[in-house]
Amino acid sequence: MNTEIQIGDNSLGDNPLTVPETLMPEQEISNGFEQFKLNKQLLSAIAEAGYLSPTPIQAKAIPMILDGHDILGIAQTGTGKTAAFVIPIVMKIKYAQSPYPKALIITPTRELALQITEEVKKLTAYTDLRHLCLYGGVGAKAQTEAIQKGVDIIIATPGRLMDIYLAGNLVLKELKIMVLDEADRMMDMGFMPQINSILEVVPRKRQNLLFSATMPDRVVRLTENFLAFPLRIEVTPQSTPAQMVTHFVYHVPNFKTKINLVGLLLQNEDFKKVIIFAKTKENAENIYKFIHRKIEKSVRVIHANKGQNSRINAMDEFKKDDVRVLVATDVATRGIDVSNVSHVINFDVPFVHEDYIHRIGRTGRALHEGIALTFCNKAEVYHLQKIEKIIKSPIPVKELPANLVVEETPFEENQQQLLDIDYQRRKEDPNFKGAFHEKKRKNEDRKKQYEDKHKAGTSKASFYKKNAKNKR
Ligand code: AMP
Repeated sequence: MNTEIQIGDNSLGDNPLTVPETLMPEQEISNGFEQFKLNKQLLSAIAEAGYLSPTPIQAKAIPMILDGHDILGIAQTGTGKTAAFVIPIVMKIKYAQSPYPKALIITPTRELALQITEEVKKLTAYTDLRHLCLYGGVGAKAQTEAIQKGVDIIIATPGRLMDIYLAGNLVLKELKIMVLDEADRMMDMGFMPQINSILEVVPRKRQNLLFSATMPDRVVRLTENFLAFPLRIEVTPQSTPAQMVTHFVYHVPNFKTKINLVGLLLQNEDFKKVIIFAKTKENAENIYKFIHRKIEKSVRVIHANKGQNSRINAMDEFKKDDVRVLVATDVATRGIDVSNVSHVINFDVPFVHEDYIHRIGRTGRALHEGIALTFCNKAEVYHLQKIEKIIKSPIPVKELPANLVVEETPFEENQQQLLDIDYQRRKEDPNFKGAFHEKKRKNEDRKKQYEDKHKAGTSKASFYKKNAKNKR
């Protein structure tokens, strides 16, 4: 998808619900969504999207939102939560009215914004509702011009939305419904100031919906400010991985062995559509290069250093099954909505522990089964244990394949792992004086001793000679 802006098809004229029923698809639109008393335009769009029955969050949220309640939804991606708020929004706004937006959906990343936009596009297909996606990283001019043409539903990342608003190019006074999606991630990404500014400029009387995959304390505080008497909907117990995902951990000693393991796993044809997560851009780039050179040309990589178009193109190719493997950092994780991902590989254990849930949520999406595999070295066991605490269950360990080439851990990598372990121990126990700490302290003591002696006229050579003698 190369378009920077997507606007709902406004060519259908000015009448409300302009598509005559006779022009709607012939298909059977009687399905589990009829219970919500949606209009025919929506039921047709839902049927065309292939949704046969509401997912649990949709079953709970749609009637409550239609009734006008504020909602606190605790749900991961893959549960159908986007349609859970888009369907009632479309039902409530019904048709294009004034030029000013009635609904605003705020979301942390542009990938996620684009994904929601696709859902909105699908679900408004038989209405004249206009939608617009606003995100940074591209010029604001075209987006601003699109706003002037009139828009009903805006999907936006917080920074760009505020920039356009502050430039005086957006009127929010007719806003009736506002959604904060992936609230936990928005806070992790430091968007709180922008969200607060947005809350100051939108009308007080409005319906608010907040969705979050996890509920850390700071999100609870946000809900207290943002929501009025909210109804809470929790589709899975807090912080449990997506239901359909089977997950395992492999204990792998070092980077090179992890690479060998990726190579081995990708030989298996069951790994049809694979996302590999890496903790840094460098790791992602290295994994990508290795796969591309040695195993599979059908691979793309997305991380923060990749340009906007390259990221969108990579996602598109992966979505369309044109490429088999996508390597990604967490930057893009939340936005990834691809169905039928067969395997998620966590090349590194995520050190933002909640990310584990988001990462493995990429597989096992709405009603498809998926497998998530995590590679863990000795310095990552700490993070693995933290994750197991959050998801309240151990992740089963899988034996390394017998034909895996296990490499020696290079000296520097080993040192880094030991340093990490040292740091983790000190973090847990401030009184712990790790080996590295000791060594560093001794070195500093010795340096100080040398400087003192030097000041007193002792030569460097004689000092070390003496020191070495003492050691023996
Ligand atoms: P979400 O949790 O919003 O990221 O949705 C995950 C995926 O489920 C998306 O690809 C949706 O198109 C799909 N989906 C949403 N609602 C349904 C439904 N009722 N039945 C089947 N798939 C759905």
